[in-house]
Amino acid sequence: MSICYLNGEFLPLDEARISPMDRGFLFGDGAYEVIPVYSRRPFRLHEHIARLAHTLEAIRLPDPHPAGDWAAIVGEIVERNPWRDQSVYLQVSRGVDDRRNHAFPTVTRPTVFLMSDELVTTPAAQLATGVAAVSAADFRWLRCDLKTVALLANCLLRQQAVDQGCAETVLFRDGFLTEGAASNIFMVKDGVLLAPPKSHLMLPGITYDVVLELADRHGLPCEVRELLEDEVRAADELWMTSSTKEVLAITRLDGEPVGDGTPGPVGRQMYAWYQDFKNTVMRGG
Ligand code: PMP
Repeated sequence: MSICYLNGEFLPLDEARISPMDRGFLFGDGAYEVIPVYSRRPFRLHEHIARLAHTLEAIRLPDPHPAGDWAAIVGEIVERNPWRDQSVYLQVSRGVDDRRNHAFPTVTRPTVFLMSDELVTTPAAQLATGVAAVSAADFRWLRCDLKTVALLANCLLRQQAVDQGCAETVLFRDGFLTEGAASNIFMVKDGVLLAPPKSHLMLPGITYDVVLELADRHGLPCEVRELLEDEVRAADELWMTSSTKEVLAITRLDGEPVGDGTPGPVGRQMYAWYQDFKNTVMRGG
């Protein structure tokens, strides 16, 4: 049984209890992060904590901990769990009120919860073939830059992919690419890496930033601009990126091959840079 953290206490996950009056449960009123951990070192922890702070500020939920305390709690969760590579889930909700009321409680006592699981990255067979995706209209709200626990729209959209035996749903809003149901989306055309710009319509992915940094470092031509749905459908390569999926080729979209239907050379190169970065920066060798 993994060890979790709930409001100041470390305990086995199956012993953790929260009230049904918690606003995270009643309203999806809270923020979260998922932090990958390699060789027991949290990856880009500072950036994850900064993104959490951005979400908390935007939803007017006072950050219950200074950054140093967050780092200590994350560090302790990692140490108390058995795996070298982990995926740490961190959630802050607006806590418990004595009655269900949309308006905020007069005194807020946030519920802070962290758990961890073994980080299992994409198996080699899947990397070799890439994955299939479907597309859908992005019907989420207009603050997709916030990492809130109110993920019903993302769940419905991801399920559309699962129902069709696919791995991800690529989202378009008003004819433009936004992101995936639980990932950011990149495309490659004629050797140029293309990505939509950060805005309130997509989550600013930590992996998205790493990929753009690696492109810059290695001199890969890159453009960050709005991408038309038609351009995406004519891409040579399409990738999904996230902390747990890393860089994964989408080789079929709505049943049609992307490029030649196999993971392309730019994506394979980016995957190799990403692994190299992880192994040198994180594992120290
Ligand atoms: N967009 C959405 C909607 C996500 O849920 C995620 C994370 N699963 C991402 C993008 C990727 O973010 P990150 O690289 O920080 O994991």
